[in-house]
Amino acid sequence: MKPVTTMRAAVVHEFKAPLQIEEVPKPEPGSEQIVVKIEASGLCHTDIHAAHGDWPVKPKLPLIPGHEGVGIVEMVGSDVTDIKEGDRVAIPWLGYACGSCEYCMTGWPTLCEKQLNTGYFLDGTYAEYVLAYAKYVCKVPASINPLEAAPLTCAGVTTYKALKMSGTRPSDLVAIFGIGGLGHLALQYAKVAGATVVAVDLVDEKLQMARQLGADYTVNARTANPVEEIKKLGGADAAISLAVSPRAFEQAFNALRRGGTLVFVALPADNYMQLPIFETVLNGIKIVGSIVGTPIDLAEVFELHAAGKTKVIYETRKLEQVNESFEEVEKAAVPARLVFDMALGS
Ligand SMILES: [Zn+2]
Ligand SMILES: [Zn+2]
Repeated sequence: MKPVTTMRAAVVHEFKAPLQIEEVPKPEPGSEQIVVKIEASGLCHTDIHAAHGDWPVKPKLPLIPGHEGVGIVEMVGSDVTDIKEGDRVAIPWLGYACGSCEYCMTGWPTLCEKQLNTGYFLDGTYAEYVLAYAKYVCKVPASINPLEAAPLTCAGVTTYKALKMSGTRPSDLVAIFGIGGLGHLALQYAKVAGATVVAVDLVDEKLQMARQLGADYTVNARTANPVEEIKKLGGADAAISLAVSPRAFEQAFNALRRGGTLVFVALPADNYMQLPIFETVLNGIKIVGSIVGTPIDLAEVFELHAAGKTKVIYETRKLEQVNESFEEVEKAAVPARLVFDMALGS
């Protein structure tokens, strides 16, 4: 049989233009790389920002987006030792880090200045195959459905790390601002940590989903003031900001009790919020930025899921539906995550 030399991929040629589904050359692994046959790839809002060139640092062009890829290793480079053909792996946003800088050496490869991001500076997982650095993929336990593993690869690890950064303890009240792909997992990690959870969103259906997933309280910020409602509960020990609106960040700040921690995760297009210095100082507030998570964090996320402690809410789409899927996500018309199921074919 003739070897496959091309693959189907969704490609960005020009920012803000629709993605093109086309045949592109299938990658070959370098010595530290692997080639993975993609089974499932989640749609993260970052992919839309990448395709639109929304952020100050622009991605490469042409670009294959996607950084929630899960698939089976098909080829391994000559220096790869801990991953073998046939393994199921997840390919996250942190596609490569130098491994030797101060950040990498202290467990913070997510801060490495030489890092390369999947679906941004490296071609991503909206394709039949992806090239990845073996050290930065994560093995997926056999018991996890690849369609569920995909959203865990960014939405899961990002919110799990954010919860860790919040320092949440079992007696804490944790407020989750924004219930969607990230928020529905964030609230479950807060529950796993033993906390009491209040979920805040603008859409009743999402709040209903939050309650089904274990949220103790919900607030619709369209019809009630989340700051007042959370203060009635004693104020939040930690708030996780997942909504792409500076106003929601300000509400999260104001909903904290003294000594509370606000974790920034979402990246609103409007980059600034009002942060009062006086209240921050007098109330001893901690503000923390949290970006994705390490391969170890991701392994822990899979471990929790394999143990049945989390649920992933998703709907599948064909890769050919990528442009309509972007529109659905932009209109917030999907419950949590969309996942491109490569088995659905063209
Ligand atoms: Zn992401
Ligand atoms: Zn580094």
